[in-house]
Amino acid sequence: MAKDYYQILGVSKGASQDEVKKAFRELAHKHHPDKQGGNVDKFKEINEAYQVLGNPEKRQQYDQFGTTFDQAGGPGGFSGFDGSGFANGFNGFDFNDIGDIFGFGDIFGGGKKRKKVKRGKDIQMEMEISFRESVFGEEKILDLYKPSACSNCGGSGDDPTSKISICVNCNGSGKVRAIQKTFLGSFETVTVCPKCQGEGKKAEKECRECRGSGVTRASKKIKFKIPAGIINGEAIRLSGEGEAGGKGGEPGDLFITFRVKVDRDFRRDGNNILTKAEISFTQAALGDKIEVKTLEGAVMLAIPAGTQSGQIFKLKGRGINDTVHGGGLGDQLVEVIVITPTRISRRQRELLEELGRD
Ligand SMILES: [Zn+2]
Ligand SMILES: [Zn+2]
Repeated sequence: MAKDYYQILGVSKGASQDEVKKAFRELAHKHHPDKQGGNVDKFKEINEAYQVLGNPEKRQQYDQFGTTFDQAGGPGGFSGFDGSGFANGFNGFDFNDIGDIFGFGDIFGGGKKRKKVKRGKDIQMEMEISFRESVFGEEKILDLYKPSACSNCGGSGDDPTSKISICVNCNGSGKVRAIQKTFLGSFETVTVCPKCQGEGKKAEKECRECRGSGVTRASKKIKFKIPAGIINGEAIRLSGEGEAGGKGGEPGDLFITFRVKVDRDFRRDGNNILTKAEISFTQAALGDKIEVKTLEGAVMLAIPAGTQSGQIFKLKGRGINDTVHGGGLGDQLVEVIVITPTRISRRQRELLEELGRD
């Protein structure tokens, strides 16, 4: 069943706009979450009903389409009515209308202490790493000079030797109340005390090192690991390693984007590593064992007789074990290039000519 907004507001379908407004006003007073016996859910419901019935245009549409509300997905799922103007202001509350009066921000904060402190900024940086580091990962220590929590006061902004006293602005409650007069009558709003940020107590003196801000510039050593398998241009986030926030504010994050240097010998293709190896045409014709570079040192590779230039040999398990994108351990693929000699001796020429007569 769709919600019956008339029932919620306790008015008849034929009620005048004035009657709807009056009913809303009474119920809003009664269930206002700041009042004793107030109820947030009930209050939200009343508000939702009033958003529709209090607006003649929306009310008319509700009367017309009301029974199809559930099929349309209920409030918040009004996509079927988009463009009709009906969905406007329907996702919860119309803050512009009455939200401000009730100080929704505070009520629906869920009773959490809402401090007026700012989060520290994120830091973005780039780091150049070798191909090898991108493949195997690597522990790194970064020395970063940045706004940090003041070491003298621990970021509180208070002088550590100062006496702590009850905040006189809010009398220690951390909240301040104000009466607001509106067309619906007077309402009491409760906000976080701006002097103590809701703590209810306050140091008498502020920290001299940071002048009460809780933040000073300092260098910090940050240890982190380059993830094995990271690709050029990808970034990691180090949570909380950005700039310090002021007075109890959360620090920002540090983002490091990796630039992988191009390697002379190794290239990447998915989880495989591509390399090239040069062999002579006699090695190609007769077969041989050659030394091949891998990221973990040289290994021997058997070249069978009759190898063609461009043929690819696989060194199993010598590729990338990508911890970032997965895909399992890759291989190293060695492309063999047969080098044709450009200068040969008289003896070699004779032998080749002999070979050519066959
Ligand atoms: Zn300080
Ligand atoms: Zn206070």
